Amino acid sequence: MPATSFSLHGIGVSGGIAIGYAHLASNARVEVPQYMLDRKYIKDELARFDEAIMATRAELENLREHIPSNAPAELSAFLDMHLMFLGDSMIAEEPKRLIRETQCNAEWALAQQMEALVARFEEIDDPYLRSRQEDVVQVVQRVLKALMGHPSHLPLDVDFDSERILVAHELTPADMVIFKNVHFAAFITDLGGATSHTAILARSMAMPSVMALHTARGLIRDHDLLIVDGRDGVVIVNPDESVLAEYRLRQNQWRIDTDKLKRLKSSKSATLDGTPVELMANIELLDDIDAVKAAGAQGVGLFRSEFLFLNRDDLPDEEEQFESYKAVAEALDGKPVTIRTLDLGADKQAPWGHTVADNPALGLRAIRLCLAEPGLFHTQLRAILRASAHGRVRMLIPMLASFTELRQSLQRIDEAKASLRKDGLKFDEGIPIGGMIEVPAAALSAAFFAEQLDFLSIGTNDLIQYTLAIDRADDSVAHLYDPLNPAVLGLVQQTIRAGAKAGKPVSVCGEMAGDPLLTRLLLGLGLRSFSMHPASLLQVKQQVLKSHIEDVTPIAQKLLKNIDPEKTAALLARLNG
Ligand code: PEP
Ligand code: MG
Repeated sequence: MPATSFSLHGIGVSGGIAIGYAHLASNARVEVPQYMLDRKYIKDELARFDEAIMATRAELENLREHIPSNAPAELSAFLDMHLMFLGDSMIAEEPKRLIRETQCNAEWALAQQMEALVARFEEIDDPYLRSRQEDVVQVVQRVLKALMGHPSHLPLDVDFDSERILVAHELTPADMVIFKNVHFAAFITDLGGATSHTAILARSMAMPSVMALHTARGLIRDHDLLIVDGRDGVVIVNPDESVLAEYRLRQNQWRIDTDKLKRLKSSKSATLDGTPVELMANIELLDDIDAVKAAGAQGVGLFRSEFLFLNRDDLPDEEEQFESYKAVAEALDGKPVTIRTLDLGADKQAPWGHTVADNPALGLRAIRLCLAEPGLFHTQLRAILRASAHGRVRMLIPMLASFTELRQSLQRIDEAKASLRKDGLKFDEGIPIGGMIEVPAAALSAAFFAEQLDFLSIGTNDLIQYTLAIDRADDSVAHLYDPLNPAVLGLVQQTIRAGAKAGKPVSVCGEMAGDPLLTRLLLGLGLRSFSMHPASLLQVKQQVLKSHIEDVTPIAQKLLKNIDPEKTAALLARLNG
């Protein structure tokens, strides 16, 4: 009997169409291979598991012995707790019973055991003890990584080339970084909003993705055939032949259109009336530089440096950070790179971070965290400043809200500069310092921020979140997350105007900058510099090349004054017509 066909609707967060077989993610935050072993390999598999436990113990002990002096005080206690969990028979022994009895591979056994433990933690009433499940997951992840570095005897019938689509309840930004190295054709999740960092990463990986499907993880079975339409937010499960044929056609058309866009790579970015428009790229890691070059970006407008701090229990020291920032600066061959100082917190939690607050997006995040951890901040500032001797580096401070934060940040930068001078280390004395305008208070005081800083960068993802009081990662309020709300547009325009008046450049580096449907609107609000994930840069350029500033400005100004969503839709259609 053919499998039942049905469709699910969510938020399309990254364009394109993928067709492939469902691969259900286990709760293990690291995707694990799952296969059965031949009996004769069981002994080897048990030894491989023991070795991974030993390697992980050695790694944790080594970390504990080399804690940097500027590390948060929690780090040592945290490593002790992880060592304790690692030594517990529930992690060190029980998976071996599963390997013996069910002949599954070590990664799979460990992931199953982790799920059982997490379920037990879930039943604990005490919230503190219940939250310790996170530590179990992190220890298991570490062992999984050790195991996956030394693969075992793979069964011959595993087809690693078939197109797989990851189906998960939830994925964190840290998971996405891991998936960069594991090939999936697409991913779909039950939870998540369109501007969550997970969605942003999906876009930067040009991977079709749909989020906020609510029930996908429960309804879809392993190996179901799936069509993922990342533009319209639709997932079709077990499609019939005619639907499949239709989507194969659409997929081809998408590929042809994407290929055609590549011709725009070297054309000058300017509107029809000759107004130059700067198009920059957002990156998370050094690996993204190839995509930046392939898109012909004029530089990096946002380097989210916090990704260097995810998926690890230790802290990158000054040297490691310096090498990473320098590598990006050098790879850009004289084009600018804007390194944002740490924006940890909210949905990007480092394992050693502070306890997750009830409202993490309003808590100790970004510059607030850095000012509360002066050692951590000083190390990063020194590393960024040192990299400025090796390319065109600019520094960007996230989430500024008040004069005090701005003043303290500038003071910390001066201190870092002074310490480098004392050590005789080179840096660019005139390194431009910018601030992100992503809190309404900062947008309302943009004139003041523009006066004190060298440039401004509008983070529309957070500006929308904080203006409309909508958690950007929460799918239950995702329909209320509205970049076209006139209050948001007003704050964007006000910031652009404040920058122009003070003679300081202003760019937008939130997701609005990468949405080709909003390019003309932003041009009409006066924006002349955009920074976005490289995957959408050529689509935005296509819009720029077709626009005339005189045509777009009056309609954008009307949108700014309009509160009725139907009229807004009509005006936007006219603008893009
Ligand atoms: C933003 O908030 O718009 C932004 C660019 O920063 P992030 O998405 O990393 O919070
Ligand atoms: Mg932000």
